[in-house]
Amino acid sequence: MPNMALKKNEMPVQPPQVRNRNFSEVALGYTEEQAVDEAARCLNCKNKPCVSGCPVAIDIPAFIGRIRERDFEGAYQILHQQSSLPAVCGRVCPQETQCESKCVRGIKGEPVAIGRLERFAADWHMSHCKEAPQPAAGNGRKVAVVGAGPSGLTCAGDLQKAGYAVTIFEALHTAGGVLVYGIPEFRLPKAIVRQEIDNLKALGVKIETNVIIGRTITIDDLFEDGFEAIFIGSGAGLPRFMNIPGENLKGVYSANEFLTRTNLMKAYEEGSPTPIQRAKKVAVVGGGNVAMDAARCAKRLGAEEVHIVYRRSEKEMPARLEEVEHAKEEGILFDTLTNPTEIVGDDHKFVRGMKCVRMELGEPDASGRRRPVEKPGSAFVMDLDCVIMSIGTSPNPLIRNTTKGLDTNAHGCIIARGDGLTSREGIYAGGDAVTGAATVILAMGAGKTAAQAIDEYLRSL
Ligand code: FAD
Ligand code: SF4
Repeated sequence: MPNMALKKNEMPVQPPQVRNRNFSEVALGYTEEQAVDEAARCLNCKNKPCVSGCPVAIDIPAFIGRIRERDFEGAYQILHQQSSLPAVCGRVCPQETQCESKCVRGIKGEPVAIGRLERFAADWHMSHCKEAPQPAAGNGRKVAVVGAGPSGLTCAGDLQKAGYAVTIFEALHTAGGVLVYGIPEFRLPKAIVRQEIDNLKALGVKIETNVIIGRTITIDDLFEDGFEAIFIGSGAGLPRFMNIPGENLKGVYSANEFLTRTNLMKAYEEGSPTPIQRAKKVAVVGGGNVAMDAARCAKRLGAEEVHIVYRRSEKEMPARLEEVEHAKEEGILFDTLTNPTEIVGDDHKFVRGMKCVRMELGEPDASGRRRPVEKPGSAFVMDLDCVIMSIGTSPNPLIRNTTKGLDTNAHGCIIARGDGLTSREGIYAGGDAVTGAATVILAMGAGKTAAQAIDEYLRSL
């Protein structure tokens, strides 16, 4: 008999006033009993509507069915056929707009907690199955991957399994891309990412860190070194600024810099090799997931007041509802319909405040959202000592500027076909470098598709 409860089984979490002072994971995961009980809410629908909402088409009712039968390893194996990072996706995928939005149980009540069950099966596998994957048999052919984020890691894993000798070249000193430098520890523990990367290394994938393609060596050097095909998964890590006066003051960060110092360099630990200002009053400008992460990190670093400053209303915020709710529970203040016009500093060039105006919503713009317009006479100054700009990112132009014949669009994104092929033979690309800032699962999907296309291309030579 299915479990006909209208609500999902709650996920245990750290209480807000405890977690906003530490960097440990907020959500604690289902127990075996909670997972089996939640799995029993699935109706095993014949036409599997939930699968149509999954960008990598995981057989959702099949893996949930295994959990229901207490075959947790079997559930993991089904997940792993389509997703190389299920423990990551179970934590950070926006399931509410993907698989769960299509679940029939959501018509009357809440959908099955597909994401929580994915996380459960992946965590169960990690804690019970310690066997490292065996190295794949080689075919003697070399492929290079640029960038060790989810797109590059997925592409590398699939090609290595197909017999190629894959080397990933990563600009930072640690592999993982946004999974390690952007998404905070309290949403995605780095030990999970490390374990996935160790598995890839056990397969035989080589990872060369501290190599910036376009500076240390170029794409064309890689071809000369005997790599027969190249996948570019270099992401979209170049921050945008508002171009208002005062953005060069001390205490103004891009969200990328702030999060990298906090998450990758662990600025919150005593003796961390990177400095970060311990601010008292912080404003994060923007309303996306990155803004929520930056605000929640600032609070955990000890700020007394953290404001989200967003020019539209809360309804238009692009951040996941769950992230907004978590931020509010942790004491983040929301200043919506508010737009900064200038950051003001003191004689020593430290931030002391931010001039803002209040906004109201006018006619819809090209995105279909109502355009914010300034309310006359509404200017005011927020008293602050730190401003974090989180208004979007775009791909870094380095690779485009050092690779002849690689076409990019007006936003600086590499132009690639559906299978990842770019305007240059042998060069494939995917993830945020092609789409602009998107999601982990889409980046992984692009890496997977490109790996298949690279294999077909190299076999045809
Ligand atoms: P990236 O993850 O950006 O990896 C690119 C890698 O390439 C990086 O390691 C970079 O150092 C390296 N690189 C760049 N240039 C070079 C070069 N020239 N030479 C060598 N290496 C280079 N998505 C979700 O689905 N859920 C979330 O909850 C979520 N939260 C997010 C929170 C933050 C703070 C941020 C910034 C993003 C978030 N995203 C989230 C988006 C998601 O992380 C990205 O869409 C995804 O990581 C893109 O993967 P990628 O492989 O294309 O690029
Ligand atoms: Fe189960 Fe919902 Fe998918 Fe139906 S739509 S198979 S109930 S997860």
